[in-house]
Amino acid sequence: MRTLLEIENLMKAFGGFQATDGVSLSVEQGSLCSLIGPNGAGKTTLFNQVTGYLVPDSGRISFKGKEITGQHPYQISRKGITRAFQVINIFPRLTVMESAQLAILSKRGHTLRFFAGARSMVRDEALSVLETVGLADKAGYLAKELSHGEQRTLEMALALAGEPELLLLDEPMAGMSPFERVKATELIQKIHAERGLTILFCEHDMDVVFGISERVTVLHQGRVIAEGKPEEIKKNEEVNMVYLGHGSGI
Ligand code: ADP
Ligand code: MG
Repeated sequence: MRTLLEIENLMKAFGGFQATDGVSLSVEQGSLCSLIGPNGAGKTTLFNQVTGYLVPDSGRISFKGKEITGQHPYQISRKGITRAFQVINIFPRLTVMESAQLAILSKRGHTLRFFAGARSMVRDEALSVLETVGLADKAGYLAKELSHGEQRTLEMALALAGEPELLLLDEPMAGMSPFERVKATELIQKIHAERGLTILFCEHDMDVVFGISERVTVLHQGRVIAEGKPEEIKKNEEVNMVYLGHGSGI
């Protein structure tokens, strides 16, 4: 197995506060991995550094063996690392279909001006992505007309439309109903299995985390306190202490 993403001794402080405190983490190609930890552990800060939205103070991030530390978000996304974005903020006036078409075109470097003429070219591809996530029947809806769970699913579809090699999902199930969670869990497993996509996700729902992850990394106060298979993490004393300290055991 080849290492797709390698994070080494990453540090990031906000003022005097060390949000990422020497994190090292590797993600194997084709794996389905999760990052867990109590609120404020530094999960989103870590994702922001991997995707280029924050520049680390020190340490190194490599993707497919090449260093990407401190590169711009668009450079990192072109290399194949994509995170699900909040669609509702980005494409409020576009339909579900148009959003998917735009995601495909922008991955290919086209600008919005080009969009009007070019979108018919990628209609089939956009439809295929919407079919994968189960939103094809909502293609003509505006994103804002979708339910919250459907919007989160659309975010995943737009990330997929960019044909990533590594998909980062930051709490993809936040605010979803129990039924939507089951659907979203199945969708993550499906895109991992069918597309062989490498996925790293943060999630609060421990049933989901332990049910589908091959590897789990636990962050606490900006540090990795455990890494391993779900059954190892569940038994880990330090991890249980940290979660019990926050009022919720694993
Ligand atoms: P998580 O995603 O694990 O809940 P975050 O990465 O969002 O944690 O936050 C980690 C810590 O860093 C928190 O204490 C948060 O308040 C702090 N933090 C995050 N972003 C900033 C920022 N831009 N400026 C100052 N502090 C921040
Ligand atoms: Mg977060």
